[in-house]
Amino acid sequence: MPYSEQTVTTVRPWSDRTFSLTLTRPSDFKFANGEFVTIGLKREGKLIARAYSIVSMADDDHLEFLSIHVPDGPLTSELVHVKPGDSVWVNSKATGSLTLNHVLPGRNLYLLATGTGLAPFMSMVRDPATYQAYEKVILVHTVRNIAELAYREELENRVSDVFRYVPTVTREPFECSARCSDLFISGELCRQLDLPQAEPEHDRVLICGNPDMNKQMTNALRETGWTMTNHSGVANFSVEAAFVIHHN
Ligand SMILES: Cc1cc2nc3c(=O)[nH]c(=O)nc-3n(C[C@H](O)[C@H](O)[C@H](O)COP(=O)(O)OP(=O)(O)OC[C@H]3O[C@@H](n4cnc5c(N)ncnc54)[C@H](O)[C@@H]3O)c2cc1C
Repeated sequence: MPYSEQTVTTVRPWSDRTFSLTLTRPSDFKFANGEFVTIGLKREGKLIARAYSIVSMADDDHLEFLSIHVPDGPLTSELVHVKPGDSVWVNSKATGSLTLNHVLPGRNLYLLATGTGLAPFMSMVRDPATYQAYEKVILVHTVRNIAELAYREELENRVSDVFRYVPTVTREPFECSARCSDLFISGELCRQLDLPQAEPEHDRVLICGNPDMNKQMTNALRETGWTMTNHSGVANFSVEAAFVIHHN
């Protein structure tokens, strides 16, 4: 049985579209920061499971996730109602292409996320080892509404000489309304942060977001000399690989 039954310990709503939850962690469950695992609920004996990036760190004793709420989504229409003490089923195997091992060592690390695409980057920005590997870590998180800036307070408190946090909001007045991809591609991000322009020779990019953003970034980076990590080797940027979800 690849799934183990875990217990919900906390639920934290961020907006009417997003919430976080923490679960107990299976004692033998291993993963690297940035990976995802399939989690699910059992309804009438049937498991409904979906891929989720892990927000908590590899050495935390619990598991944390950031979830969308799709009103007619088979899993999240139910998951949004879970309470502490309820069961969630967790697959035994985590995987993914957004770990630090999926890009070459380098100078500055750019983490570009839209919506719940923030999730895999939370574990990285929480882990001191990330800052030993890079001179600066820059997280850009784009959402539609301010309330969807999950973990904003924590991220603002983490800002330091080595960590920069750039929240952007597209559908409500906010200090920055540009999409993370546009900010990066135009060079505006580096100008704003007073950093040297990102270059494939020196810098690394991890991308996690909606399919349009992933595609826009992949095309723009490839056109300007960046190489994507794939089965033939680790390069200077990586995107969460297309993944077939088994809808039960
Ligand atoms: C590798 C991978 C990692 C993922 N990590 C996360 C994560 O950390 N958090 C998370 O909430 N989801 C994540 N997802 C999406 C997740 O697997 C489910 O699709 C999501 O939980 C909705 O499930 P559902 O059964 O309610 O609806 P589904 O039938 O799975 O989806 C219905 C529709 O909702 C939209 N949708 C699904 N997920 C999202 C989302 N996250 N943001 C915006 N729109 C969405 C899509 O248009 C989709 O067609 C990930 C998917 C993959 C492939």
